[in-house]
Amino acid sequence: MKIIDFHCDTISQIYNYRNNGEDINLRQNNLHLDIEKMKKSDYMLQVFASYIDLKHDKNPLQNCLNHIDLLYKEIEKNKEDISIVYDYEDIIRNKENNKISALLSIEEGGVCKGDLALLRNFYRLGIRMMTLTWNYENELSYPNGYFYDEVRNKRKGLKEKGFEFIKEMEDLGIIIDISHLSDDGIYDVYNNTKKPFIASHSNARSICSHRRNLTDDMIRKIGERGGMIGINFYSAFLKDNLTYKDTAMIKDIIDHMKYISNLGGIDVVGIGTDFDGIDCKLEFKDSSNIQLIVESMKKNGFSEEEIEKVFYRNALRLFKEVL
Ligand SMILES: [Zn+2]
Repeated sequence: MKIIDFHCDTISQIYNYRNNGEDINLRQNNLHLDIEKMKKSDYMLQVFASYIDLKHDKNPLQNCLNHIDLLYKEIEKNKEDISIVYDYEDIIRNKENNKISALLSIEEGGVCKGDLALLRNFYRLGIRMMTLTWNYENELSYPNGYFYDEVRNKRKGLKEKGFEFIKEMEDLGIIIDISHLSDDGIYDVYNNTKKPFIASHSNARSICSHRRNLTDDMIRKIGERGGMIGINFYSAFLKDNLTYKDTAMIKDIIDHMKYISNLGGIDVVGIGTDFDGIDCKLEFKDSSNIQLIVESMKKNGFSEEEIEKVFYRNALRLFKEVL
């Protein structure tokens, strides 16, 4: 089964390890994801995020540019097996040439400092997806998740710059990613856009009440729009009372797939592993064994067609429409 994954933090991890003096690359490493593992698992496309921590990275913009440079260099070294894609046709061409596609994203709209010129330059560098926030307030909006208590009593949707950004992102063809965004921000995106948008790595809040997950109404609205939700493999987003110390289990991943497809339709469900951004153990260890989920889906009543949709067909349809 081909695989399209909407989110991993592998490039930022490699960058950090190298800054600590470790010799580590994208070809083969001990992280969740590398090219060897992706080949073994029949990957069609991986979205590589430049994950930025605005509070702890001394120079977020510089770091983001360095992540992009690192990815370009690693992919150049492995160009027989993988190449960067800028549009739908690139993805199909790679597939025909038996190559994995790499699509670039940014996980923290704050790297653009509210400047549309920076957003456009990132597009020119190949960025095709971006979360408006990570877990901090920035020029565009407010986050969800860990800092929710600080913002509980006030409406915290998109800021003026946020509205300008989503318009420009739609015009350019950068997929708007609402993972990490505040609830009010998610509705602002829904009410002020026309194209499908995604939650690249979020689950269902009715099953696991973590605020990084999505309410039933959000799931329905993303589905109505033709958007997608990438199922996140993090234990703490899969089940209440689980933490990073617990192992992420396949049956819990499948529960979210079922719940979300029942509400929003099978066309809304995708994969957003969050590999190398999550610190829990995984029942299937890493990206090399992801086909175990396919086997388990078959046993749990998903048809071949439905599994194909979840693993790559839905994402291909979305890329065709938005990029
Ligand atoms: Zn994230």
